[in-house]
Amino acid sequence: MSQPKQDSPLEIFPPVTGNIVLLSTRGHHPNSKDIYVLDAQGRRCAAGVNARYWTVGIDAGRCPTWECLVHAPFAAQVIKAENDVPDRIRLHGFKDRLAQRFRRPGDGDSVDEMSALIGNHLILQSDNGLTALLCHLRQGSLLTLPGKTVEAGEPIARIGNSGQSLTPHLHFHLTHEHGKDPAIPLPFRLREVRGRRSDAQ
Ligand SMILES: [Zn+2]
Repeated sequence: MSQPKQDSPLEIFPPVTGNIVLLSTRGHHPNSKDIYVLDAQGRRCAAGVNARYWTVGIDAGRCPTWECLVHAPFAAQVIKAENDVPDRIRLHGFKDRLAQRFRRPGDGDSVDEMSALIGNHLILQSDNGLTALLCHLRQGSLLTLPGKTVEAGEPIARIGNSGQSLTPHLHFHLTHEHGKDPAIPLPFRLREVRGRRSDAQ
């Protein structure tokens, strides 16, 4: 992979395959994405399930994104891995937003501040410094370890709801160690992967 050109998006293997949507949630850099898997009707959550989410609450397993496979976006070495942060399994639209609003970093967590924010995560880096951050992974789902290498498209974990995540999704962004500003997320586009549905169980 050559040096990054900030204006030409890098083509990567989709970190999540199938029927997905990539959103730049409020507070995110435009190149920093939250990835959700959609159901057959193109919804992040079925209408009835969504109604329950806002009233009595639902289990994370009702979201099509829950436990979907995460793939390595390019050939890389695993730089960092966290696999032990508990997932938030019970979800409630109002209660969770209220709790998030008044929550201070580290509150009620036995994990460090970074893990409290991004949950279980992987940091991957290519030979020339292209770096991927993948967050909110399922506790205990990581299929690789720091120091190991992964191929583009290789399954590396499953999506969970760990860290500051209201509903199951994959937070994903790319940076480049040797880029103009190593902290600024880079634009990317997803390689077309034919004949693959979402990797939900
Ligand atoms: Zn995010």
